[in-house]
Amino acid sequence: MKSEEVLKVFEQVGAIRQGHFELSSGRHSATYIQCALVLAHPSHAEQLGRELAGLFGNLGVTCVLSPALGGIVIGYEVARALGVRALFVERDRSGQMALRRGFEFKPGERVLVVEDVWTTGGSTRETIGVVEQEGGLAVAAGALIDRSGGRLELNVPSRALLEMDVPSYEPDDCAQCRAGGIAARPGSRFSRAHP
Ligand SMILES: [Zn+2]
Repeated sequence: MKSEEVLKVFEQVGAIRQGHFELSSGRHSATYIQCALVLAHPSHAEQLGRELAGLFGNLGVTCVLSPALGGIVIGYEVARALGVRALFVERDRSGQMALRRGFEFKPGERVLVVEDVWTTGGSTRETIGVVEQEGGLAVAAGALIDRSGGRLELNVPSRALLEMDVPSYEPDDCAQCRAGGIAARPGSRFSRAHP
């Protein structure tokens, strides 16, 4: 699947929107990519999962780990394609990413970390930290979209199906905020926002 084909899938379902958004990283951007609208279609999710898995086929991973919630569906599909377990981390009461629900790694287990979108890569970095804490070995990280324009620095090899260079800003540096605009939090408002 070429990058343009991946982009086409996202555009077809209206998953790329323009406006004024606060991303989950806390940064502001005029563009929001709502992967959930793509992954809502099981056929797209399965195909994208297979494509992403294909980038990591020779690493001998026995487990995929994703940050909740955004990473769960795509992580599950990548795991399906690789024929391995699909686990996820979620925030505990103190706000730390943690492995719960009886999920665990075998000592030294080779783990692939999968997320939907990278802006700063913060969630993936936290998830890699959990792998290390829990005795696994994070061997690589993957995402559907890297919107950092390839500027991410993760401490494991990383690949995304689609690289985009979409600017995002700290709220203090956001031109739309300075013009008096209020950023929407797409997690709750995206479905009601106009494209
Ligand atoms: Zn703003």
